[in-house]
Amino acid sequence: MTPFQDLSISNAPFMRELEAAASRVLRSGRYINGPEVHAFESELAGATGVDFCVAVSTGLDALRLILKGYMEMGRLREGDEVIVPANTFIATFLAVSDCRLVPVAADVDASTFCLDFTRLPLSDKTRAIIPVHLFGTPCWNADVIARLRSRGILVIEDNAQALGASVGSMPTGSLGDAAAVSFYPAKNIGACGDAGAVLTSDAALAETVRMLANYGSRERYRHELLGANCRMDELQAALLRVKLPRLGEITARRNAVARAYDSLISNPEVIKPHVIEDKDTVQAWHQYVVRHPRRDSLRAYLQENGIGTEIHYPVVCTSQPCYAGGGIRMPEGGVPVASSLAGEILSLPIADVSDSDVERIASLINAY
Ligand SMILES: *Cc1c(COP(=O)(O)O)cnc(C)c1O
Repeated sequence: MTPFQDLSISNAPFMRELEAAASRVLRSGRYINGPEVHAFESELAGATGVDFCVAVSTGLDALRLILKGYMEMGRLREGDEVIVPANTFIATFLAVSDCRLVPVAADVDASTFCLDFTRLPLSDKTRAIIPVHLFGTPCWNADVIARLRSRGILVIEDNAQALGASVGSMPTGSLGDAAAVSFYPAKNIGACGDAGAVLTSDAALAETVRMLANYGSRERYRHELLGANCRMDELQAALLRVKLPRLGEITARRNAVARAYDSLISNPEVIKPHVIEDKDTVQAWHQYVVRHPRRDSLRAYLQENGIGTEIHYPVVCTSQPCYAGGGIRMPEGGVPVASSLAGEILSLPIADVSDSDVERIASLINAY
């Protein structure tokens, strides 16, 4: 039996160090705003090449705090439009909606699964865009992004799935104005609970986000902003500090699995995900997502053969019930690519598989 992912297996190689880190925090008596969080922030900023990192509670909060931060700074206003790819985890949309900004759905490219930069639903109300580096593939087009930025449009990366990826020599998370990272347990670097981070080289944004995440306060019992409590705790920071130095290793293993699937899967009905050959772009495979016209039966067949799979995501965000009453602006012509992908995509196990697992999965798929 090969489960899609078993976090006890994913964490096994780190277990002794994780236990030691947890024990260190438990015995320290310092659980919030302490040395582990501070150290983690500078280590993550260093690893991603940004000037500032604010460790926060979740990836969703990281996105919300960036947007709220720009609202506090007067860079965004209620009702402004923010472009979001239709094919993403719902958090990207919810963050925009929660700030009373208007998410504008953009269709995606069928081969990269990321924003289709040739068909952005721009309007004169567009004030920000959130490229999502989905499945670990950098969602970037330097020329188009430069043009957007010259129009004053903020570029906020959703880097929840691509820590370790890069474009040119720049890590994802350092490409735009600010970036959100998630350390949800199943992400490439996962906490043992919820955690996230905001990355930016904008000192004013970093300071505002830090206040918003800490009751609107930078000085104890003085509350300058209507903030909230979105802090990462010492325990999660200490656990993440065990894994962050191994990001290169973790990425290399996932990339090796993706390359093996790419060379071994030869079933003509299976469309494999785009492997970027460009030397300047490094993918950090988070999911290996194939397409098949009869996805559900392929999935059932793999399940019968002991292979767990997932679907990321079975329902496109624009069709989620929470938006049934409106709330998303749709582009003219809708989001046909994202909508059709939802019925065809299948994520194969990538996190904990051995080379022989990959060979077995590929030959099962080829025999289907
Ligand atoms: C996981 C994820 C998030 C949200 O992160 P949480 O830590 O679960 O709140 C946001 N965007 C994308 C693309 C994600 O995959």
